[in-house]
Amino acid sequence: MTKFLYVEMTWPEINEVMKENRVVLQPVATIEDHGRHLPIVTDVLITDTICRRTAERIPNEIVLMPTQYHGYSPHHMDFPGTITVKGPTLLEYMLDITRSLIHHGFRRILLVNGHGSNALWLEAVARLTIVEHPDTLCGMLSWWNIPEVVEAVNKMRTGGSGSTDHAAEAETSIMLALRPDLVDMSLAEKDINYQISKYFPPVDLIYPAGASKRVTPKMMPYWSTRSKTGTVGDPTSATQEKGEAWIEAAITGLIGILREFKTFEIRDRIDHH
Ligand SMILES: [Zn+2]
Repeated sequence: MTKFLYVEMTWPEINEVMKENRVVLQPVATIEDHGRHLPIVTDVLITDTICRRTAERIPNEIVLMPTQYHGYSPHHMDFPGTITVKGPTLLEYMLDITRSLIHHGFRRILLVNGHGSNALWLEAVARLTIVEHPDTLCGMLSWWNIPEVVEAVNKMRTGGSGSTDHAAEAETSIMLALRPDLVDMSLAEKDINYQISKYFPPVDLIYPAGASKRVTPKMMPYWSTRSKTGTVGDPTSATQEKGEAWIEAAITGLIGILREFKTFEIRDRIDHH
């Protein structure tokens, strides 16, 4: 069967694809400010597109869940439009989704994250799913960590350190490729987090090749204390061409990840007591 959208299947079709050892792909994002030049739906659109285009290329290997729009963004609430879900709520909500999928027989679930601060909760979802159901595999990744994306961004980025953080070169380029009608480049401005220092270096979604990723103290102050526009980084270097290349890299990389994930053995636990 070539259907891949979970919600478009009938229940007998769900039962059929369950038996095909497909990977269930669950995109998760958030609704929050992305500078003055990008819409609040940015994370959702990017994550949704990467997962949908990936599924369109290998429809027989994937079951695609509807994108989860709402995520963990309490530190963005000073900016109008942000919708936030409490961390433990997101954790339990997403766990209930993996529990439901497992109840119906699915054994391989990959959460694809499109918003930085979701990561800590989604990693917990992936881990707890396996703790509760050892006969399954549940993994989590953020799209900007896909090796092909890191490589492609490093090849083409022109902004300096920090340019690919929030609503900056990477996200703006991708939005120019996906929905140029929703991007107003005349309002895009560089707004680097002004509290950077030796131990608090600029944060990037994707670090420039050779740059240190080490940020020793983990800390997330309210976004309005870091940025005046909501942007952290430099969106002015964004181009549609970069965006198209980076989306393509994400799809290629995700296909590779899914195909490996599909081959992992689900081994029985051994109780050594
Ligand atoms: Zn974003």
